[in-house]
Amino acid sequence: MFQLIIFGPPGVGKGTQAISIAEKLNLDHISTGEILRKAASEGTELGKRAKEIMDKGNLVPDDIMNGIVKETLESIKGEGFILDGYPRTLNQAVALTQIFNDLNFNDLKVINLRADDEEITQRLLKRGRSDDTRETILNRLKVYYESTSPVKKYYEDLGYNIDINGVGEVEEINSEILKCIN
Ligand code: AMP
Repeated sequence: MFQLIIFGPPGVGKGTQAISIAEKLNLDHISTGEILRKAASEGTELGKRAKEIMDKGNLVPDDIMNGIVKETLESIKGEGFILDGYPRTLNQAVALTQIFNDLNFNDLKVINLRADDEEITQRLLKRGRSDDTRETILNRLKVYYESTSPVKKYYEDLGYNIDINGVGEVEEINSEILKCIN
């Protein structure tokens, strides 16, 4: 069972790349943002709560996210999976290490996609999701630098670190990722 974490700031192209890589390598794509948006569209209690948080560009509490991911991974089958949008805090990264240990998952790669703030702001404004307003984007970037970017160091310290330029043609970035994980 292969594990891939696609990490990077909002709007860097994690989702696009994860979908394509998942298809090419026959992996499950686990996007915590998608899971929350689905819950929101279904109007569940979790969904309602999450939507309010997402529309402000804040993070859904760690215990909720860790629970969702634990449950998802406990029932996963197949050749492997890509995590897109998780872990987003140090607390989540530590929880994920524990989950991987418990489930004997030990074939992890971590890809960091990078792009500068101006590039990702422009991309997000073009995308136009309900959390892609200028105000929310600014807050998502702030939250990224404060809470999420330390996760990069967490994995670097554990020896995982594949850094890839996220600016350019989607297919070229895709080939670069495939080259690095093969
Ligand atoms: P994304 O689709 O990954 O951009 O996520 C959209 C929004 O969902 C984020 O801005 C957060 O509000 C929420 N979200 C997604 N994943 C997480 C996570 N791992 N921890 C906390 N909040 C999350």
